[in-house]
Amino acid sequence: MIASDSNPLLAYRDAPRFQDIQPTHACPAIRSILETAEAQLVALETETQPTWEGLMLPLYRMMEPLGYAWGLVTHHLAVMNSEEWREAHKAMQPGVVAFSLRASQSDAVFKAMVALRDANTPLTGPQRRVLDSSIRGAELSGVALSGQTKQRFNEIKARLAALSTLFADHVLDARKAFKIMLTESSQIEGLPRSLLTSMAEAAADTNNEATAENGPWKLSLDPTVMIPFLKHAERGDLRETLYRAHVTLASDGEFNNMPILEEALALRSELASILSYDSYAEVSLATKMAQDINAVDALLETLRATAYPRAIEELDDLRAFAAEQGFTSDLALWDLGYWSEKLREQEFNFNDETLRPYFQFPRVLEGLFALTERLFDVRIRAADGDVQVWHDDVRFFNVFDADGSTLASFYLDPYSRPETKRGGAWMDPVRPLDTTGEMPTLPVAYLVCNQTKPTAAQPSLMTFSEVETLFHEFGHGLQHMLTRVGEPDASGLNNIEWDAVELASQFMENWCYDRDTLEGLSQHIDTGASLPESLFAKITASRKFHAGGGMLRQLAFAMLDMDLHARFSADKERALKDIVSKNNQKTRIIPPLPEDRTLCAFSHIFAGGYAAGYYSYKWSEVLSADAFGAFTEAGSNDAAQKEVGLRFRDTILSLGGGTDPADVFRQFRGRDPDPEALLRQEGLLITTPI
Ligand SMILES: [Zn+2]
Repeated sequence: MIASDSNPLLAYRDAPRFQDIQPTHACPAIRSILETAEAQLVALETETQPTWEGLMLPLYRMMEPLGYAWGLVTHHLAVMNSEEWREAHKAMQPGVVAFSLRASQSDAVFKAMVALRDANTPLTGPQRRVLDSSIRGAELSGVALSGQTKQRFNEIKARLAALSTLFADHVLDARKAFKIMLTESSQIEGLPRSLLTSMAEAAADTNNEATAENGPWKLSLDPTVMIPFLKHAERGDLRETLYRAHVTLASDGEFNNMPILEEALALRSELASILSYDSYAEVSLATKMAQDINAVDALLETLRATAYPRAIEELDDLRAFAAEQGFTSDLALWDLGYWSEKLREQEFNFNDETLRPYFQFPRVLEGLFALTERLFDVRIRAADGDVQVWHDDVRFFNVFDADGSTLASFYLDPYSRPETKRGGAWMDPVRPLDTTGEMPTLPVAYLVCNQTKPTAAQPSLMTFSEVETLFHEFGHGLQHMLTRVGEPDASGLNNIEWDAVELASQFMENWCYDRDTLEGLSQHIDTGASLPESLFAKITASRKFHAGGGMLRQLAFAMLDMDLHARFSADKERALKDIVSKNNQKTRIIPPLPEDRTLCAFSHIFAGGYAAGYYSYKWSEVLSADAFGAFTEAGSNDAAQKEVGLRFRDTILSLGGGTDPADVFRQFRGRDPDPEALLRQEGLLITTPI
């Protein structure tokens, strides 16, 4: 045992002592925690008690120090990255993963949990949900299996993990293998300066003379090059070459993913039947909000039925526009992005730089807090200096209830630090609300963004998408911080079904398209003016630009994913081809090229965690748009808005993972989610709400 005053990673009851924490603390702390936890687990296994206090609570207490210390290690890796933190993380990760697996797959613990479930002991709603999902998680990891079946299950799991890595490697390697060095100025016509710079930088790997002005410029399938190239390049022949390479990526030769994905689908199907499910889609849905395959199919079809005819109209508009501009051939697949960008430029002549001067970070933050205070009747106050932080940029805030009592706190690390900070934005819990111990602990969150830095002369000027990101992460933060569930495994975002977890975050994003909110948080850096009506109108209109086609593309992925995992059967000849071609008929307006094999690069479902789960994007957008709709319906009346806001706080933000998300939604909205709100938000339905 090491004392927590000599190793701050062990002081899991305190606010993290960031100024003391060093990478050298990681290995001794994690080792010591794992040793203690292992002894506790063995004790629980030898004397299992099927009661909440004798089983579930000790299990949580056993994991708590590990959650705290490992959370701090991964946090430092993400925001204060260094060779030392990487080494410490790498050294400890296998032990942490192995212990977590062992704890969640312990046979004795599993049997005790089943006994607790079957004993009819009175449990609270959140306790019941935590118990059920722990049992289900263990079952899905094969705990209840034995003998040869268990052996086969483990073989399949191992093989699927290997196939997933192989799939991802092939995509990467195939992408790397494709490159064209552009050397003539005629080849780069239309390309924006930022793209030329990054293409020249990429070319500099093999030619250190490369410059943005004179080239050579490396054309590749890297999405940061490919996507803007297809939008801007004047040369149709180069767009065609790139497009053809993209849709056939990793589909033949040494990097062919077709046999890999076929094997993965067959193994997933076998795995499902070992677990007594009819399909892998059912395995996936067992832990999600969507009740069953029919519910997912029905939602996707409702959206498709509206998006499809709109996408046809959009394509007609695009054809007419291209013809007006003198383009006489029929639009090919590699022309769509290009003409659509031209049309967008004509309709909305604004970009990131037009908007940036209006969004000063301190003002945006004030506006976000004012909105939160108004809607949810809380107060947010800066408390910098009350706690230690990991970097000078980091701010600290407390959140108070209307009666002045403290509810929660959060750290905010807003700016990008490319040398030491991971890209992207996220909310992570430091600790959840926990009222099960002698002293309750309040929720604390990290909010991390990567927005433009301030300079000596001016504050950080944010792009509109940086503003949206801040609102998004703050929405996750609100759900973590305003929870009223004191059972830590079901508090805040814990134990919320995956397809419902983006509700609060996307809900907050929607406020970025609210006129009053945007007016309140915008202030031009030079003139002090708030965002003019004309720019606001462009922002909202551009959100709806070609929304039919955009939605149809997402639906194509979601429907294909669901079909492959619900309806693919390995022994049916041509099953895969049939599924793909039926899907194309439903979701593609211009048929794909005969050689199209985009399935071979569908990494979300073959090398990520989205198998039979890609629909979750649309599912949660439906929830968040419909939840936001309640505020639109309330009109601009302050009292009416506040009433809806408090109801949102009492349901969506309070009930955490302790209540079925469909019930939570019904408690807020008084009915089931309705996809119409999303269609209306995207401009795909223009009827007024009833
Ligand atoms: Zn999110």
